[in-house]
Amino acid sequence: MPLWNEYHLPTSVDEAVALLAKYAGRARVVAGGTDLILDLQQGHEQPVEALVDVTRIAGLTEIRQDADYVIIGCGVTHAQIVTSELLHQKATCLVEASYVVGGPQVRNVATLAGNVAHALPAADGSTALNVLDAEVEVVSFNGRRWIPFTSLFRGPGQSAVDSTREVLTAIRFKATGNHAATAFSRIMRPQGVALPIMNMAVCVRVIADHIAAAAIAAAPVAPTPFRCRQTEVFLKDRPAIPATIEAAIEPLLSECRPRTSPHRATAEYRREVLPVLLRRTLSKAIERAKSGMVTPNIYEVE
Ligand SMILES: Cc1cc2nc3c(=O)[nH]c(=O)nc-3n(C[C@H](O)[C@H](O)[C@H](O)COP(=O)(O)OP(=O)(O)OC[C@H]3O[C@@H](n4cnc5c(N)ncnc54)[C@H](O)[C@@H]3O)c2cc1C
Repeated sequence: MPLWNEYHLPTSVDEAVALLAKYAGRARVVAGGTDLILDLQQGHEQPVEALVDVTRIAGLTEIRQDADYVIIGCGVTHAQIVTSELLHQKATCLVEASYVVGGPQVRNVATLAGNVAHALPAADGSTALNVLDAEVEVVSFNGRRWIPFTSLFRGPGQSAVDSTREVLTAIRFKATGNHAATAFSRIMRPQGVALPIMNMAVCVRVIADHIAAAAIAAAPVAPTPFRCRQTEVFLKDRPAIPATIEAAIEPLLSECRPRTSPHRATAEYRREVLPVLLRRTLSKAIERAKSGMVTPNIYEVE
């Protein structure tokens, strides 16, 4: 049995959602196909009547700024994100996350929207978007709506976006402002494919050498992307110095619940990794926020 019969390349959102409506649940949105085609081939997804490719829709292959928001269309690949000067300045953690997704061939076709719609809690792009307080626009035949990033996830691999009937058309977030900066890092097996042992993203605002606000996402420590709210509260108004980072390890470990994964790491190992990631990622974000210098770590060996 073929994995799909028809392949459509709509050039507008209206055309894409009309196609999905016509197939009434028997079609599926595809972007780079780096998750979906493997899932179809390996039997993790049922064959479909049609694939609706959303990477040729006019206006949705761009990264742009509109007033306070940075907007990323659903056709934007990780390779585009890595080379975006706008994102280097306004969302450094996202550039660093996209840079580690697969190799160049994967990054050239795989999209950030596909990373999010696939709904795995440790997807690198999702971890970065989590600290940016992103929102996603979802369009169906019946209309369009913006959903907060955190409402998108229902469990591992379970998205609130129904990819047989809806298109996640765009992702938006507010650009990091004055005195603020972000950072992302991860620990990966040398021969690892697809998902890290653990990753972390941080957004921090530093005023007068004190942490005015912090957002921290660690993954995988829960069935859905997780914000370390207790650690964020702990950090607020404390001096932006190494001793504060060390002291934040305790609340971080108390609220994160990593599990053993047969393919990646044990829960115990992941608990050892969490402080390492916090030191690396938070200190990098603080350094950037203090200096105003943001050069993404995209040429370093992991
Ligand atoms: C060799 C290899 C290495 C990888 N390494 C990493 C890694 O290091 N880190 C990581 O996070 N991921 C990794 N991945 C996973 C994958 O590349 C990413 O998750 C990628 O961003 C998925 O995007 P895509 O465009 O290929 O999505 P697709 O495979 O096209 O789609 C994924 C899912 O999202 C749905 N979908 C896609 N776009 C939309 C949309 N606009 N609206 C609604 N639904 C949509 C599809 O129906 C499908 O369910 C790797 C994959 C491979 C094959």
